[in-house]
Amino acid sequence: MSHDNCLFCKIASGEIPSKKIHEDPEFVAFHDIRPAAPIHVLVIPRKHIATLSEVTPDDAPLLGRMVVLVSKLAEQLGVAYTDGDTGFRTVINTGPGGGQEVYHLHAHLLAGPRPWSRM
Ligand code: 5GP
Ligand code: ZN
Repeated sequence: MSHDNCLFCKIASGEIPSKKIHEDPEFVAFHDIRPAAPIHVLVIPRKHIATLSEVTPDDAPLLGRMVVLVSKLAEQLGVAYTDGDTGFRTVINTGPGGGQEVYHLHAHLLAGPRPWSRM
């Protein structure tokens, strides 16, 4: 269900272009337009959920699959945690207090050599 005037619904549908790295019936992943780290990918459900504060228990399986997808993408991007100092950061900002700018649920996947500009 796409919401009018939602930027990420439009990215998910392809109406607004993005550099996608993954698409499936439930999720889309694409490069952040203003990367805060050498690797900065956003993972979104196609379902319009505005914030983490409005998820319900019915969303639990979807959110579980979203986190599993983040892990799979990190592996594909070559930043999975294996040993030593490898790995990545996963962030979900919620509401103004959490610094959320786009009100369609998304997980940030950040990785690469520091320093990072934000996040
Ligand atoms: P938030 O602050 O809501 O957690 O993160 C929103 C993210 O979306 C920001 O990192 C911002 O750079 C990114 N962003 C905003 N507009 C666009 C866009 O049109 N395309 C892409 N690919 N990323 C966007
Ligand atoms: Zn949306």
